[in-house]
Amino acid sequence: MYDLAIVGAGIVGLAHALSAARRGKKVVVVDRDAQANGASIRNFGFVTVTGQGAGDCWNMARKAREVWAEIAPEAGIEVLQRGLLLTARYPESEAVIDAFLATEMGEGCRRLTASEATAKVPSVRADTLRTALYSPHELRVESRTAIPKVAAYLTAKYGVEFRRQTQVLDVAPPVIETTRGTIRAEAAIVCPGDDFTSLFPERIAPYNVTRCKLHMLRVRPSKAVTFETAVMSDLGLGRYLGYSELPAATPLKALLDRDLKVARENGVHLIVTQSADGSLVVGDSHHYSTTPDPFAPTEVDDIILEEFDRVLALPGRTVTERWVGTYASAPEWRMTDKPSDSIRIVIVTSGCGASTSFGIAEETISELYGA
Ligand SMILES: Cc1cc2nc3c(=O)[nH]c(=O)nc-3n(C[C@H](O)[C@H](O)[C@H](O)COP(=O)(O)OP(=O)(O)OC[C@H]3O[C@@H](n4cnc5c(N)ncnc54)[C@H](O)[C@@H]3O)c2cc1C
Repeated sequence: MYDLAIVGAGIVGLAHALSAARRGKKVVVVDRDAQANGASIRNFGFVTVTGQGAGDCWNMARKAREVWAEIAPEAGIEVLQRGLLLTARYPESEAVIDAFLATEMGEGCRRLTASEATAKVPSVRADTLRTALYSPHELRVESRTAIPKVAAYLTAKYGVEFRRQTQVLDVAPPVIETTRGTIRAEAAIVCPGDDFTSLFPERIAPYNVTRCKLHMLRVRPSKAVTFETAVMSDLGLGRYLGYSELPAATPLKALLDRDLKVARENGVHLIVTQSADGSLVVGDSHHYSTTPDPFAPTEVDDIILEEFDRVLALPGRTVTERWVGTYASAPEWRMTDKPSDSIRIVIVTSGCGASTSFGIAEETISELYGA
């Protein structure tokens, strides 16, 4: 008999496993896939604090960032980059950055001149740069290796057991029915990512969930370059709620809707992170539907790359890999549902699960077991 069964071995499930295991609970994590394959390994691995929506999301991101920083060295996960450089070329962006810096979320962040910005990321185009927002808070890990390492760490340090290639069919603690037999656990936390129909569809639907499809690219520069921090651009100010919900962002959003209409219509904003081999993970776009199609039109990639080239001078760069990912989306950025005293359903319904799950998990486990 386990204390806790967790459905889903993405970052949300793993974060809950960590939090429960740290309290000495005997935990089993069940996932239908042979290895992590969902949003959690398709993302940038960009643990973002600055720019998250004010209040709950920003607070969760700050907590989660601390957990990432704690476990990364123990789990053998390399933090490849620290911090964020958000480049701005419009005067309207400058106003948003100043307004952001005046909020509590601006603590530790500052404006950089063009030469200070290029000292951090020499590939940034200084000629069109008006100013840049620098944040020291972010961490960047390589998700496709980091997620398996978190799972291995949970087993090695806390004895968390994993049942892979096992679909969970029904959750009614102490009985969890799976395609590989019954698991017995006193409580269960369902972390199904963007699968809204296999378990508790009637509980999930009222949260008005849909799915978001994103395009991602791996870009190889023609010569060795160093990105000390992740890079974003004006489009990020128009999209990340920590900036875009500020009253000062209204003129910028109107300008972006006019000047970068196609990018805005495709939900494109620029994030560039760097991997250990020097290649860059670049994205992304946002298209919403109940069942996203599996197709990845090159026009969307080209829109992302146009913004990349407006911000970075990397002549001769090549695209070496393309993929799409999907995540859960809803009007609220996250949901926790309580079908019974012993069951919780936890879904991050926005694109920030890598940045917030460790914080959310602390909340769920404290509520389930007492602070
Ligand atoms: C392209 C892309 C870029 C992103 N970039 C970032 C970023 O830079 N920073 C950030 O913070 N966030 C980012 N996100 C969002 C983040 O990746 C997600 O919020 C997060 O990964 C969601 O984690 P999850 O565990 O809920 O989902 P998943 O990783 O999808 O895991 C869910 C798991 O549940 C399993 N499962 C579901 N139902 C069952 C069942 N009945 N039985 C057994 N197993 C089941 C699935 O097999 C799956 O493994 C990005 C997302 C994408 C797609």
